[in-house]
Amino acid sequence: MVMKGMGDDQEEASSSSIACSSTSGCGACDHCGRQISLANLELHAMHCKRYLESCKLCGDMIPRRRAQEHYQSEHAPLKCSLCAEAFEPPLLAKHEKEQCPRRMVACSFCSFPVHAVDLAGHAEPCGNRTELCIACNKYVRLRDKIAHDLQHHTRINHGQLDHSTVDDVEPFLKKLKVGC
Ligand SMILES: [Zn+2]
Ligand SMILES: [Zn+2]
Ligand SMILES: [Zn+2]
Ligand SMILES: [Zn+2]
Ligand SMILES: [Zn+2]
Repeated sequence: MVMKGMGDDQEEASSSSIACSSTSGCGACDHCGRQISLANLELHAMHCKRYLESCKLCGDMIPRRRAQEHYQSEHAPLKCSLCAEAFEPPLLAKHEKEQCPRRMVACSFCSFPVHAVDLAGHAEPCGNRTELCIACNKYVRLRDKIAHDLQHHTRINHGQLDHSTVDDVEPFLKKLKVGC
């Protein structure tokens, strides 16, 4: 079982490795490390050394004349427009959307937009505010309101809704037909 499994893995690995027509065999380019068919290896290596270099920051092989471009788009630090901290471009979007302490988030109790860094300080007192529940005429803390509704009002509301739809819709439909 184990031997068979290992054999399968090796087959998969070799068949999925990078484009190399295996008729002539292949070798690794000593510049970029890719497997190249022996017939093309010399030519490739020449071309590769001349035109490609590995990025010192991420190790990607990039065309020499695009090195500057690559650096600008992948590594040149950009400042977050909100908190002014600098990030590599690929990380900046995530930072601005999910991590920046200055991004705006909505308070789950009052929906008011606040800075993420202030949310905890705002939500604590905000959730402790009470609001009159119109269904039972009691004051309920906002942080408990969802649980309160589920516990005390969900079933009743459903019952009322079901009745009202059955009772109201039929005469309403009749009226519609008559009206036409
Ligand atoms: Zn190469
Ligand atoms: Zn790079
Ligand atoms: Zn930021
Ligand atoms: Zn709030
Ligand atoms: Zn209530």
